[in-house]
Amino acid sequence: MGLVVWIDLILFIILFALFIYVFASVTITNLHKVYLVFHFAMMLWPFCQFSIKITDNPKLQLFYVKLSFMDTALLATGWLLFTILLTGKSYVLRRKVSLLLFVPPIFIAIGVIINPNGMFVLPIEGGYFQRTYGPIFWFIITTVITYAIISLYIIYLALSSSNTTRIKKQVSHVLIGVSVLSAFVLLDIFLNVVLSLSPPVIPGMTSLGILLSAIFFIIAIHRDKIFDIVTIAHQDIIDTIEQGILVLDDNETVVEINQSLLPHINLQIGDHFDIADIYLSEQSDIHFDVFLHTYREQPLERANIELFYPGINGYIKIHAAPIIVNGVMVGRIITIQDMTELRRLIDATNLQSESLQERNLELIGIQNELFQTNRKLKQMAVTDSLTGCYNRHYLTQQLEHEVMNNMKYQTPFTILLIDIDFFKSINDDYGHLVGDAVICNTVEVIKKTLRQSDILARYGGEEFIVYLPNTSQAQAKLLAERVKSAIEDNKVVIDNVTHALSITISIGLLSLNNFTIKNTNSSKIHLNDMFESVDKALYQAKKAGRNRIVSIVR
Ligand code: GH3
Ligand code: MG
Ligand code: MG
Repeated sequence: MGLVVWIDLILFIILFALFIYVFASVTITNLHKVYLVFHFAMMLWPFCQFSIKITDNPKLQLFYVKLSFMDTALLATGWLLFTILLTGKSYVLRRKVSLLLFVPPIFIAIGVIINPNGMFVLPIEGGYFQRTYGPIFWFIITTVITYAIISLYIIYLALSSSNTTRIKKQVSHVLIGVSVLSAFVLLDIFLNVVLSLSPPVIPGMTSLGILLSAIFFIIAIHRDKIFDIVTIAHQDIIDTIEQGILVLDDNETVVEINQSLLPHINLQIGDHFDIADIYLSEQSDIHFDVFLHTYREQPLERANIELFYPGINGYIKIHAAPIIVNGVMVGRIITIQDMTELRRLIDATNLQSESLQERNLELIGIQNELFQTNRKLKQMAVTDSLTGCYNRHYLTQQLEHEVMNNMKYQTPFTILLIDIDFFKSINDDYGHLVGDAVICNTVEVIKKTLRQSDILARYGGEEFIVYLPNTSQAQAKLLAERVKSAIEDNKVVIDNVTHALSITISIGLLSLNNFTIKNTNSSKIHLNDMFESVDKALYQAKKAGRNRIVSIVR
């Protein structure tokens, strides 16, 4: 036997390995891959049968016989995988248990290659053209039949379950194809092995079965595109998507243009594409220059640009992204999106938001005004309109609260009741307006003399109450004295009155530092009691000649 035969065989094995590698690595569906392996296994059988017959070399004949039956085991496994995928049960193959499917073919391969004591095959008359088979052969047949039965059972399940019509159609095609194949194989075994008819009734019966079923499968694949659903779906998506899609190879040659883009661009598959052609305006544009620079100088980066496109009289957004396979750029995908509608919407939204913002500002203005008015109203409610000091309402409210607290924490405090002396005569001599001015002036002077925490309120007419928190009688007396002298020293200068006026005041002073009083059930009653007491003190001051202070303690 010449070396040439072996070279052919080695080449064949290398080619076979390449075939498996290509189909395992390129992007096609798993179903395709399994079918192609299955198909290859089918091709191999007639090749081996042929080869056995054309050589007289027993060793070579044995090799082909071995190859045939390893191929048979591969066929059975491929067929089972094929059925599993076809019936939409590919998830089964993700489980580790599915690896068990490959155990019998591996044992078969080992058994066939070693052929221990002729347990697989023995020659008749020194050659393998005629041969007898041992137990390993029957193990192969059992495996093939078992796998066939499992496949048929899976097919039966698929047909009887609520699968989609697509899967049912695929499955029934396979059923026919496989039935044809099985019928021929079984007939071959029965006639040529079991009955050992020699010469065979019809030579190459299994090969014929394989050919017929392969033809059947190929017709089914072509007519119903049964395996192409994912590819078809991808194409459908590309052709129905609104965005324009352009796929370029690494020489910037167009390899795909989708339906949306086709009417807008003067390009065909195979044309050279120049990105600069997209920009139709005569003026140069800094954004486009940056885009162009990124596109040309940094092809691995994604580049984006939005620009006016006269072709659609609107704005388009161009996005260029590299197609990278194993770190090498093999082309680009360029998507083109019509932005006109989106831009219009954005403009409309911006306009709306602007007017909303304006209205918002207006509302904030109104809210501020309301706040200020409210503040003024609150202020007015507690202020005496003539003098600007607190009014009686505020005073009583405040005192109710303060007095209760002072009682609770035993804090001494004082109340002054101030009344202008002989005020009636001022009114009588100078008129009411001058009287008002004198009241205001008096308030100013009293205010200056008081401390920050003291509260001055107009009690009525030309009478005022001063609340001195946390103040003992001694401290209060000093303060009242200061107020009295300040008024006495003060000269009231008034327009239209030739000489400055001088007035005096009388003060009733009530200090509280006895907290044993128990009739504090109502702060109002308590407050009235206090006002009565301080009024009495004032009355005594008036009676005693005015311009003086009468103080009492409770
Ligand atoms: P006495 O020393 O006893 O206090 O004498 P008097 O004249 O001040 O007497 P009294 O306090 O009883 O009189 C208060 C007068 O003040 C009566 C009223 O005409 C006048 N009066 C009250 N309220 C006002 C006011 O708002 N403006 C002016 N101009 N006069 C007022
Ligand atoms: Mg009075
Ligand atoms: Mg008076």
